[in-house]
Amino acid sequence: MRALCNVLISASSHVKLVQLFVSEEGGQQPEPVCVVKKNADDVFQASPDLENVLVSIAQEAADNNSPLVFRPHGDARFAGVRSKIAEAQLQEGAAIPFTAPDASERITMVVLVDIDDYFNEVGLEPFIAYACLCSVLLEQTVRRQRLSEFATFDHLTGLLNRRALAEVLEREHVRAERYNRRYSLLFCDLDFFKRINDTYGHVVGDRALQGIAKIAGRVLREGDWIGRWGGEEFVCILPDASEGEAERIAQRLRNQVLEEPLSVEDQAVGLTLSIGVACFPSDGYDINSLLVHADAGLSAAKQSGRNCVRRYAPGLD
Ligand code: GH3
Ligand code: MG
Ligand code: MG
Repeated sequence: MRALCNVLISASSHVKLVQLFVSEEGGQQPEPVCVVKKNADDVFQASPDLENVLVSIAQEAADNNSPLVFRPHGDARFAGVRSKIAEAQLQEGAAIPFTAPDASERITMVVLVDIDDYFNEVGLEPFIAYACLCSVLLEQTVRRQRLSEFATFDHLTGLLNRRALAEVLEREHVRAERYNRRYSLLFCDLDFFKRINDTYGHVVGDRALQGIAKIAGRVLREGDWIGRWGGEEFVCILPDASEGEAERIAQRLRNQVLEEPLSVEDQAVGLTLSIGVACFPSDGYDINSLLVHADAGLSAAKQSGRNCVRRYAPGLD
């Protein structure tokens, strides 16, 4: 948004201020989202009054869905900010509405210049064309953001997906190696999850996975990471966690899942989690062996009757 305003500011020495407002279709007054001012330090001090006037002008342009030109000196709406207008030599302005990427919103670009009759001479067309270009650029930006979200997050739980978590793991591993830090991995798997699906259906199974994600969000510490590794498998990365801390956090997570059964038609459906733990550097020096060892811990937890935590030990794999 700011970059879009900056282009206009630098396009002409007469353009003194560009401000963008977003208004919801049939909603309240437009919200200022971005302002770029030329010579901001000397001429424009933050002026809520001036902004309020521009809000009402942006609203008018958005409501009529049509560009409008205004002259601050002869306009009663600017009565309270006359000295600011004079100081900044704001002679003329234009408000150009255009469609926001989310079609339920409109964006209005307000441009103020320091000479009279500017928009008559230059014409509004270049500004309207620029607004159209902004609309396309913003739409592309939003699309790119959505694509990046799809590529990063698991759609069901909102957690990082496996690819994104693997990237985090790579970063955390490099950091731990470089700064001589430790970190721990938890490999978590829901017990008898197939049974939950078979008994209550996939929708309930999906709710169970979402529930685990929420519980983990509460149990893990700030700076910890969790992602959905596969169907009902989750991997947590605990930076700086010692072996003891990692096991404690794993136990807390396991216990919290046990304590919060799923409610299905007023019936409590118990869920349990088995967790394998592996720590860097004591249980492995590279990512692959740490993942294999955390998985070996998980297999040991399953073999020990499930609903428990097992740390990797030599011989388990
Ligand atoms: P164990 O205690 O040995 O882990 O047994 P389990 O039944 O949990 O293990 P298994 O690997 O046999 O079953 C995993 C099940 O997870 C099978 C699959 O249908 C289910 N599952 C995987 N992804 C999803 C999902 O996105 N939604 C739902 N509802 N179920 C899923
Ligand atoms: Mg399972
Ligand atoms: Mg599994």
